[in-house]
Formats: sequence, structure tokens, C-alpha cells
Amino acid sequence: MSAPKKRFIAGAVCPACSAMDRIMMWDVDGVPHRECVACGYADTLNAQGQSVPGELGTRVNKPVTRAADPKVQTVQFFPNPKLKKPAP
Ligand SMILES: [Zn+2]
Repeated sequence: MSAPKKRFIAGAVCPACSAMDRIMMWDVDGVPHRECVACGYADTLNAQGQSVPGELGTRVNKPVTRAADPKVQTVQFFPNPKLKKPAP
């Protein structure tokens, strides 16, 4: 068998670099693969139709328990304070 036939998806926007008409798609065993020729971003779609980034090849080796990382802080982002309504 030769390489899968890739085709550009008109109007598709790369989720990584936002380039339009740079997404190629092809199927491997019925699984849609995407690749951005502009930045090299690639992902596949799982059975639920969710994007699975192709570059995260190490996630299988990582433990799932990473809920409480002390280094990750919750950043509170305040929008424009002027939009805040004054207290009555
Ligand atoms: Zn891209």
C-alpha cells in the first residue's frame, strides 16, 4: 500500500497557528489525521471526535496523578475594573 492520500481542507483553520487552508487531512484505518503544513502541528481525532495532539507521544508514560501541583498557581485574571458596577 502507498501512503494515505492527503487532501487540503478548504477553510480549515489550524488550532495552533491559525493559518487557514493549511490543514491536510487523511484517514488511517478510519481515524482522521490532521496536519498543518504551515507550522507542523498534527493531531488525530479519537472515537469521540476529540482532537488528540500528535506531538504528545509521552503522555502514556506519565502518571495520571498530577492534580495538585504546587508549582501551578491559580492566576486570577481581572478584566477591566471599570466595567465593575459600583456597589449600590
Ligand atoms: Zn499551524
